[in-house]
Amino acid sequence: MIDFDKIIDQYLIRENKPKEIGRYYPSEVGGCIRKTWFSYKNPKELDAALLRIFEAGNLLHEFISEAIKSEKNPEVELIKNEMPIKIEEKDFIISGRIDNLVLLRISGKQYLIEVKSTKMLPRQANESHEMQLQLYMHATNIHSGFILYIQKDNLTTKAFPFDYNQEIVEDILRRFRELHLALKHNTLPKPEAKLNEEKRWMCSYCPYKENCDKAGF
Ligand code: SF4
Repeated sequence: MIDFDKIIDQYLIRENKPKEIGRYYPSEVGGCIRKTWFSYKNPKELDAALLRIFEAGNLLHEFISEAIKSEKNPEVELIKNEMPIKIEEKDFIISGRIDNLVLLRISGKQYLIEVKSTKMLPRQANESHEMQLQLYMHATNIHSGFILYIQKDNLTTKAFPFDYNQEIVEDILRRFRELHLALKHNTLPKPEAKLNEEKRWMCSYCPYKENCDKAGF
């Protein structure tokens, strides 16, 4: 019997490079600060199940890009289907290639589209997804965008429009500064997700739950 799960897992496995303090990733913006702190101090291999979920998201992102690019949809023009982001602050950098980000043009205007695959279409956009989009808008200077959710099992979609919001961006940069100082001074941040009812779901997917519980508040 051929083990196809093993074939997929071996294909998806990646080298886990240690992260460098002072260089942060845009995708870290909306997560629990304590979890991100642990990922620098105590890096762990990404779980095979998580790698599959990420890959399923990448495949759906490719699908959306192809649909936008298609000659059958002449009213939308795909400009890019992944983008590098770089924000240089005084003593740290936020940078990375964003592969679930689409840049398109409709009636002469450019929009950033952050594509998110989901089990079920949400009623409203997730706060951490909006934070990511705001950061991308800040870095690219393209100040209109959408978070586009696509349901995995039937490819239905729901899009939420956003304009650039300076206040949210300032808060995002403050969070990165807080993370940077906590890493530099080796002080464990508060268990942000545990303390916030709306973010508590993050703890169920957190690979550092045991470390976090041991450390207390
Ligand atoms: S268990 Fe929850 S609060 Fe603790 S680090 Fe993970 S996500 Fe954050």
